[in-house]
Amino acid sequence: MNYFRTIFLICGLALGLHAQAEDTHETKGAADQNTVIINFLNELKADNSVYMVQHKIEFFAGLSKGQTPKATVVTCADSRVQANMFDRAPEGDLFTIRNIGNQLVTAEGSVEYGVHHLHTPILLFIGHSRCGAIAAVGGNYSKESAAIKKELDTIDIPADIGNMEGVKANVNNQVTGAMEKFSEEIESGHLVVIGAVMDFADDLHQGAGKLHVININGKTDSNLLENARALLTPKKAKVSSEPRPEKHAETTAVTHEQAEAPVAKPKVKAPKKVVTEHTDSQEPAEHH
Ligand SMILES: [Zn+2]
Repeated sequence: MNYFRTIFLICGLALGLHAQAEDTHETKGAADQNTVIINFLNELKADNSVYMVQHKIEFFAGLSKGQTPKATVVTCADSRVQANMFDRAPEGDLFTIRNIGNQLVTAEGSVEYGVHHLHTPILLFIGHSRCGAIAAVGGNYSKESAAIKKELDTIDIPADIGNMEGVKANVNNQVTGAMEKFSEEIESGHLVVIGAVMDFADDLHQGAGKLHVININGKTDSNLLENARALLTPKKAKVSSEPRPEKHAETTAVTHEQAEAPVAKPKVKAPKKVVTEHTDSQEPAEHH
């Protein structure tokens, strides 16, 4: 109960400024927001209870043993994009990193962890239709906070590009950047970098909710999925006489605890400054 009381207290403090104004509309708004919060907490509890019942103890025992995810996934943080759109059981499958604009450079340490320590054979970048980060970069985001500007500055797309074209260009940029960073893993066949777009708005006219694979190891031809095998590099045995420190973890099982251990400080590329002019954006910037 103390937990919930603390939550309520924090919410009350957050709403304190509004409470000072004796505007009945604001008071009503605060009450409505509290209702939303309480409903959310109740749904959280109810949904989690259902989840616990639906999964057997063996399932959780398996998760407890450690993780060997198939893919490191970098998606936009947008709430409309969720793993269950393309993976019915993502637990243990996806080492997922989320940020605005599904970027490598703003989450470089996490991506390195997935590739170097968890050895996922796939690094998947997922953009999406109606992306607010892409819309913001296509417009004027100079009034955003320094922290937000910093994460938008690293999205390198033309200022006058349409939203979906910008989303695709950004995904392709992420794949290109990752191919440079992980060139050794790709050349030895230990990693494939894939770019995709979750088109929930059907902007590509192939069905709402379709996940489009648009890039495999830098190839952006059509029918990528049909030709995927030809785009993969045969896996080579590691013959290096001087194995890199990151690969040492391969000889030991990665436990759940290890997976949550802090990683070495990554090298972070200097953000590219995108010079933008104000243009009409397709979507409001709130949809990050
Ligand atoms: Zn987005």
